[in-house]
Amino acid sequence: MLQNDQIALWDRESFFHPSTHLAMHARGETPSRVIRTGSGVHIEDRDGKRMLDAFAGLYCVNVGYGRPEIAEAIADQARELAYYHAYVGHGTEASITLAKMVMDRAPAGMSKVYFGLSGSDANETNIKLVWYYNNILGRPEKKKIISRWRGYHGSGLMTGSLTGLELFHKKFDLPLSQVIHTEAPYYYRREVWELSEAAFSAQCAARLEELILAEGPDTIAAFIGEPVLGTGGIVPPPAGYWPAIQAVLRKYDILLIADEVVTGFGRLGSMFGSAHYGIFPDFITIAKGLTSAYAPLSGSIVSDRVWKVLEQGTDENGPIGHGWTYSAHPIGTAAGVANLKLIDDLGLVEKAGRMGQALKKGLTQALAEHPNVGDVRGEGLMCAVEFVENRAARRMFDPQRKVGPAIAARMSELGVIARAMPQGDIIGYAPPFCITQDEVDTVVAATADAVKAVLG
Ligand code: PMP
Repeated sequence: MLQNDQIALWDRESFFHPSTHLAMHARGETPSRVIRTGSGVHIEDRDGKRMLDAFAGLYCVNVGYGRPEIAEAIADQARELAYYHAYVGHGTEASITLAKMVMDRAPAGMSKVYFGLSGSDANETNIKLVWYYNNILGRPEKKKIISRWRGYHGSGLMTGSLTGLELFHKKFDLPLSQVIHTEAPYYYRREVWELSEAAFSAQCAARLEELILAEGPDTIAAFIGEPVLGTGGIVPPPAGYWPAIQAVLRKYDILLIADEVVTGFGRLGSMFGSAHYGIFPDFITIAKGLTSAYAPLSGSIVSDRVWKVLEQGTDENGPIGHGWTYSAHPIGTAAGVANLKLIDDLGLVEKAGRMGQALKKGLTQALAEHPNVGDVRGEGLMCAVEFVENRAARRMFDPQRKVGPAIAARMSELGVIARAMPQGDIIGYAPPFCITQDEVDTVVAATADAVKAVLG
């Protein structure tokens, strides 16, 4: 086996890491973390340090690490047929079976699933299909896409534009001109403290309508949103938000893309966030939970309404000019079939809902009274604690103090991984669905100890 110091050297010399401070990493100021193995909710690094991963990788290893059922499905598929493409009507038993399994689980009104590799490319597909749809309908001006500040939809040119976080725009010449952002449904950060959730939702919808009218409704093609804001701070929507937003979208004939990359396949305790909140989308983006990240795979689920128009398009123009070499990759789809079967067999969707309640309750009991805890929130197994300098004023800490990262770093020393979300001092939790009550207690205790160490 290679020596640790040699691996660390190669890492700094050769590996361009995503979402990493490049200069600090190259100088050796950030740790090289080499993860070797995983089982259940735990991962272990090359030095034998075992950690409870309360963020399931990047909220994706939903069934937990080390599942032999999925590993075997991948190995069997690789031996039988590692690759064939899905162009001009080709498929494999795995890709066709997975399409059927996805559509059996999808909310009413959805028609078919297009498979890609990542959440970003699935959203890229969605936007191309939105434009295609409006071109077929003879509405070439109806092309702009509205997303929310704090939304996360990927890192590509279009999807990075949709993402409503400054870090993903700055110095990349983004967002592209076709993308506009509207208010996030971030109830804790409402301007008027006395506003009820329902009134705040109505205000978000009214601001959306103002934006549409200012831009011109005939120029707005689609609205994209995560059922629960994820990377932007783990923010469940206030009561009445989705019905109010959808009423505005219907009024101006604007398509709705529900980005369920995180929420799809059970994380909220429901199979889809759309069903959970009464969202009736035209497109649903899926990725992470589709294979529990055992292999890269994503999908764009399109509605009956959209499908009928897409079909007309190919009657006029020939085959649809959109495909990836790895669309519906046999190994990815084999992993997906085994993963969805495991979720059913182990009752993991129901378990995610139950353990999510336990985690939120534990965090609330341990932390809600702390003077620097502004908000404890969550839905299913997506929870967050937001830290503030002054609770009454909801005043944030100076970002230079890096309170969130310090708490996450302390938790990591205690053997628990939670995520310091990129904007604000917010610690996020999204563990695998198989987490037990004892493990929830460990996560809560590590958080409380870390908060005490950092904030007193
Ligand atoms: N949409 C959402 C809601 C996400 O959380 C993410 C990834 N965190 C993406 C899209 C992009 O997925 P990927 O990183 O696989 O491109």
